[in-house]
Amino acid sequence: MADWKKPEAANVEKTDIKSLTLQELREEMAARGERAFRAAQMYEWMHVKLVRSFDEMTSLSKAFREDCKSRYAYTALQAVQTQESKLDGTRKFLFALSDGNVVESVWMKYKHGNSVCISSQVGCRMGCRFCASTLGGLERNLTPSEMLDQVYAITLLTGERVSNVVVMGTGEPLDNYCNLLVFLRMLTDENGLHISQRNVTVSTCGLVPEMRRLAGEKLQITLALSLHAVTDEKRRRIMPVANRFSIRELMEACEYYFAQTGRRITFEYSLAAGVNDSEEDAMGLVRLAKPLHCHVNLIPINPVKECGFTRTQLSQVRAFQNILEKNEINGTIRREMGRDIDGACGQLRRKSMSGLRDIGGNEAC
Ligand code: SAH
Repeated sequence: MADWKKPEAANVEKTDIKSLTLQELREEMAARGERAFRAAQMYEWMHVKLVRSFDEMTSLSKAFREDCKSRYAYTALQAVQTQESKLDGTRKFLFALSDGNVVESVWMKYKHGNSVCISSQVGCRMGCRFCASTLGGLERNLTPSEMLDQVYAITLLTGERVSNVVVMGTGEPLDNYCNLLVFLRMLTDENGLHISQRNVTVSTCGLVPEMRRLAGEKLQITLALSLHAVTDEKRRRIMPVANRFSIRELMEACEYYFAQTGRRITFEYSLAAGVNDSEEDAMGLVRLAKPLHCHVNLIPINPVKECGFTRTQLSQVRAFQNILEKNEINGTIRREMGRDIDGACGQLRRKSMSGLRDIGGNEAC
């Protein structure tokens, strides 16, 4: 048994074809001796027509499709649960991935268009104390195709075009940097869904080296920083990542991002009663936001049972917002979408995981 080796074949994973950029697909097809237009044709089936299998690519010969099936993995998500808010039509989807893991995504309808909030990882290892997504740790990164698939599946399920994408679901997107970048380029590629980069937001808990690296990519996306506290001491208490990077380093990275891209940063600030919602906190936030001309999103914390935080009363959130406004900082109280469905990030997935465990494993996916 000691010298038993896994068979070679088991280690050979099929290429995930929907994660290939158009250029990579061109190279792949050229290497197979296919005609030049084949890559563009397939890319359109996958990223514009959003087909869910090779079989649906009806302009390709059956023999070619069969050959593709033997060479490539084709990801497609299965919706295993959907919740719809009676208040505002927000829909939350729980999708099964091909390995049985599940991720959640949210569809929100606004006057200016439809927005999708996607997950970037299965679980998360950042450990923010108020967040449900991190309670079970990180399972794995999502591939570019699995991030795209969340947008594609929701487009198909709702029958409506998605105009905005926010990477604010489960996971730390900058902890999955390379896959995130491929995803962002493909999502906004004119040969795909061609979502405007200005309509894409990536939210980070503040991984400084990756924020700086992202600045260099010269994308026109919005970077949102989950700040949540205005002193290092307080931030460390609620976000372990603050032990690695100080607020000063964070602000310098934000400044650099703005200088490189011309895009203003948004601060995310979730308010928990008695934790970060005092007048002093508000003034601290003013001091940080002012030099960067940041917009601030105020979010009354979504209580997660295991975390023990209580949300700040709306009247106090308004008072907090008033302090910002008086000091010329734009602060929006995030309209709570889908308040009647499992609100907080990662709660639907968590609920489903314990439910699945109760019925013996995750075969239900
Ligand atoms: N890892 C990324 C993106 C995922 S979370 C980040 O940290 O930004 C998206 C946003 O929701 C973050 O601002 C996060 O701090 C916030 N969040 C997580 N759990 C929350 C909760 N229970 N209540 C309010 N905001 C929460």
